[in-house]
Amino acid sequence: MSELTVYNGKATMEKITSLAKRRGFVFQSSEIYGGQNGAWDYGPLGIELKNRIAGAWWKEMTQLHDNIVGLDAAILMHPRTWEASGHVENFTDPLVDCKKCKSRFRSDQIPEENLAAKKCPDCGGELTDTRKFNLMFQTHIGPAEDTASVIYLRPETAQGIYVNYKNIIQSNRMKIPFGIAQIGKAFRNEIVTKNFIFRTCEFEQMEMQYFVKPGTDEEWFSQWRNQRWAYYEKLGVKMDHLRWHQHGPDELAHYAKDAYDIEYLFPMGWRELEGVHNRTDYDLGRHSQFSGKDMQYIDQDAGNERYTPYIIETSAGLTRNLLMILCDAYDEEQVTPEKNSGGSEGSSSANGADDWRTVLRFHPNLAPVTAAILPLMKKDGLAELAQDIRAELKEDYSTDYDQSGAIGRRYRRQDEAGTPFCVTVDYQSKEDGTVTLRFRDSMEQIRVPRAELAARLRQEIKNYRRIK
Ligand code: ATP
Repeated sequence: MSELTVYNGKATMEKITSLAKRRGFVFQSSEIYGGQNGAWDYGPLGIELKNRIAGAWWKEMTQLHDNIVGLDAAILMHPRTWEASGHVENFTDPLVDCKKCKSRFRSDQIPEENLAAKKCPDCGGELTDTRKFNLMFQTHIGPAEDTASVIYLRPETAQGIYVNYKNIIQSNRMKIPFGIAQIGKAFRNEIVTKNFIFRTCEFEQMEMQYFVKPGTDEEWFSQWRNQRWAYYEKLGVKMDHLRWHQHGPDELAHYAKDAYDIEYLFPMGWRELEGVHNRTDYDLGRHSQFSGKDMQYIDQDAGNERYTPYIIETSAGLTRNLLMILCDAYDEEQVTPEKNSGGSEGSSSANGADDWRTVLRFHPNLAPVTAAILPLMKKDGLAELAQDIRAELKEDYSTDYDQSGAIGRRYRRQDEAGTPFCVTVDYQSKEDGTVTLRFRDSMEQIRVPRAELAARLRQEIKNYRRIK
C-alpha cells in the first residue's frame, strides 16, 4: 500500500453536488431553464449506481427471502385509495409564511420561540398563522377539470401493495407471514427541498410490506429492524454513521403503532434514511371499509381462522440511499505519485510532488463501472490489445475504456467515478500476456496474467473489504 495521508475535510453537500454533476451522476432537472425545484436527472453514472442500489435491495428482499414477492403497481390509483389511506385528510405539513421576506417554512422545523412570537427566523418579520398544506400532487384525468376527475400522483408506493394483497395471495398462493416488495416513483409537494437530492418532489422508494398475524407483529417488527440494520452493514456502509431513532408519540404517523428510523450522518447532520413501521391493520381495515371488499385473511391451516393482518413496513428512499452511498463513499486523500511500469507517465502532478485525490470508495457491487481498461499508449498495438481485453470482460462486468492523457490522470478520473479496478495494458503485456491490475482503495498495483483477469476480479469483488 502506498503512503496515504488522510485529508481531514469531510464530504460537504457542495462537494458532493459538484462532483455528481462533473462526473455525470446527477444533474439539475431542466437546467437550461434555470432548473426545476425538487427534481433531478440521473446521468450515465447515476443511473448505473441507482440501478445497482435498487438491485441490491431487490435481491435482499426477494431472492434471499422465500416468502417475499415483487410487484410493480401503477402510479395513478383510484382516488378513493387516498381517502381510505388517510392521505387526503392527514398527509399535511404545517406551513407558515413570512409576511415581510416571503420565506416559507414548515412550522415544525423552526425554533419554537419564533413560532410563539410569530417572528421570522430569517428576517424577524411577522409570520402568518400556521395552516395545513397537503403534500399530494393533484391533477385531473380525462378532459374535464372538475372535482370528479381529480387524481393524485401517489405519495408512497405502499398503497399499491395493499390494494393488491388479495390478488397476490390468490395468484401466488402466499401464506402469512409473507411480504410484497416494490420499487417505484413517489411524489410529494415538499415545501423545503434543499440539500441536493435528499428531499425532492419526485423520488423513488423501495418498500416492503410484510403481512403478519396480529399478536406476532411486535416480534416481526423487531426482526425487520435487525434485518434492515444488517443489510446496510452488508452494503459496506460506515456503521458509525448509522443510528436508530424511535418516533415519539407526537411524531407517529396516523397509521403507526410504533416506528423507528434508520438515520445516517449526512454532511448536514443526522437524517432519516429509512423507516421501519408497524402499520397495524389500519390500511387493510380502511380499504375494506372504503371498498366494501373483505380484506381478511383466511388461515386454512388453522381451521379457516379469519383475521385482518397487521403490516410491518420497511420503507427506504432509493434516491436518498443514493445520496447516502455517495456521501459514505466520498474521500479525499493526499497521495504520493503512483508508479507504473510505463515509467515517467506515472506521475499525475507536473513536478512529481505530492498530490491530492478525490475517491469514491463504492463497494464493487455498487460501483457504476467495475473495471476501466487503460492502454498505457495508444500506439504500438496497445490500444487494440486493451480493446480486446475489454470485449472479453464486458460480458460479465461493467467496463470503461480510456486512452487519453497521462496514466496518473486517468487513474484519478476513475477514482473520482468510484471504479474499483483499473486494468493497464503496457509493453510487457504484449511480451508476456500480463496486465497491471490497480486497486482503487490502496492504489496497489499487481501484475496478473490476462487469462486469469476475469476470475481474479470475481474473487476480489467477493472478498472486498473497505480499508477506510
Ligand atoms: P419526512 O418526515 O422526512 O418528510 P417521512 O417520514 O414522511 O419523511 P416516509 O413517508 O416514512 O418519510 O418515507 C419513507 C422513506 O422515503 C424515507 O425514509 C425517505 O428515505 C424517503 N423519502 C420520503 N420523502 C422523500 C422525499 N421528499 N425525497 C426523497 N426521499 C424521500
